[in-house]
Amino acid sequence: MDWDDTQDQAAFRSEVRGLIEEKVPARYRAMAQRNHREMGYPWAQDRASGEPEREQSAREWFEAISDKGWIAPHWPKEYGGGGFTPMEQYIYNAELATANVPAPGSNVGIGMLGPALIVHGTDEQKERFLPPILRGEVVWSQGFSEPAAGSDLASLQTRAVRDGDEYVVNGQKIWTSHAHYADWVLLLTRTDPEAPKHRGISFLLLDIRSPGVSVRPIIDMAWGHEVNETFYEDVRVPVDQMVGEENRGWYVAMTLLDNERSNVTGAIMMERQIRRLIGDVRGTGAGRSRVDRYDALRQEIAERFVEAGVMMNFSLRIITIQAANQVPNYEASVAKMFGSEAGQRMARTGMKAFGLYANLWDHEDGLAPMEASFTRSYVRSVPGTIAAGSSEIQRNVIATRGLGLPRG
Ligand SMILES: Cc1cc2nc3c(=O)[nH]c(=O)nc-3n(C[C@H](O)[C@H](O)[C@H](O)COP(=O)(O)OP(=O)(O)OC[C@H]3O[C@@H](n4cnc5c(N)ncnc54)[C@H](O)[C@@H]3O)c2cc1C
Repeated sequence: MDWDDTQDQAAFRSEVRGLIEEKVPARYRAMAQRNHREMGYPWAQDRASGEPEREQSAREWFEAISDKGWIAPHWPKEYGGGGFTPMEQYIYNAELATANVPAPGSNVGIGMLGPALIVHGTDEQKERFLPPILRGEVVWSQGFSEPAAGSDLASLQTRAVRDGDEYVVNGQKIWTSHAHYADWVLLLTRTDPEAPKHRGISFLLLDIRSPGVSVRPIIDMAWGHEVNETFYEDVRVPVDQMVGEENRGWYVAMTLLDNERSNVTGAIMMERQIRRLIGDVRGTGAGRSRVDRYDALRQEIAERFVEAGVMMNFSLRIITIQAANQVPNYEASVAKMFGSEAGQRMARTGMKAFGLYANLWDHEDGLAPMEASFTRSYVRSVPGTIAAGSSEIQRNVIATRGLGLPRG
């Protein structure tokens, strides 16, 4: 396959680059140069931070992308989306990742709710819920997983019982990312406990400030707060906030539209980490690094470099499939599993390169190598092989759908 841009792709790429060069707020530009914080979800956090400078950056960057009509790149234009092809999304995501700046907007709203509503929602629901996402007024969170329903999500037990024009919801969700910044939550609920498990689930939209909802933080092993437990006690949800038919919510939740799934961002981030590591051990960090003393360490860095290339090739493979109007299947599992496991290996290699200095956690400590970035990613990369489908589940998909092996 020829990976040179076509004329149109080159023009689009330079339009994206031009926008980034001109409009990225100073705060994001400065963060992009730092080691200690790879971009995560800063837009949603900045927007609700209560700090004027952070809120201003979130607003400015949102407006710049919004003026282009690119907030929801893969939604059709008639719904206010960018109408990007998968290849255009790929270029857009690659350019943002290369510049190390975030895509603004509610990622659950844009990535999950939008597609579900566009395909299954009523006209009223589309009119009510899509525009606030495009205006950056509402942040959504995803309330799917429960304490006893993660990999086997269809076992979920949160109950919704119809009472007149409302459903009454009782139950608990867990790992609800960013619920503490969110305004609304997508909730998968059980409406028919007698039906086979995939066929008794309904998809509800719930204002997170409704009476009976409580959000309890989970502080993670990196002392961060991203995920929460959320509890629902006699919460009343109007029936017009159900998407799709009652008991058909599983299929609504699985709607993807033409979302680019290559994880090119992960591949570009890993390559940047390696290049920065190499730059550091050959430059200002040389005195702290052990790389000059151990062959095995140099070999490990070389392995990570090869893996970053493999990740990029998996990304290219997936985007090739999507560009041919096909849906990636087990290929996406290969890329997810390999990328998240390589990310953990990368963090370990970065730790080893600096020996005991890598124990320093404070990124402002002048002795902490590369602003403690590998120390932190060593801890923070752990959930990567669990969230969005664990490595074991990805291996099951590859074994059965990819290799045709029998199910156990
Ligand atoms: C950082 C983070 C953010 C998240 N954000 C959200 C969110 O915003 N909203 C949301 O709804 N959920 C979220 N999740 C939940 C996530 O989707 C689940 O953690 C994931 O699906 C795994 O489910 P579980 O934690 O219940 O583990 P379990 O399913 O209980 O799995 C436990 C272990 O058993 C293994 N296992 C399970 N089934 C099989 C099998 N059939 N074959 C082989 N091995 C198996 C798993 O791989 C794992 O190692 C988040 C999780 C994390 C870590």
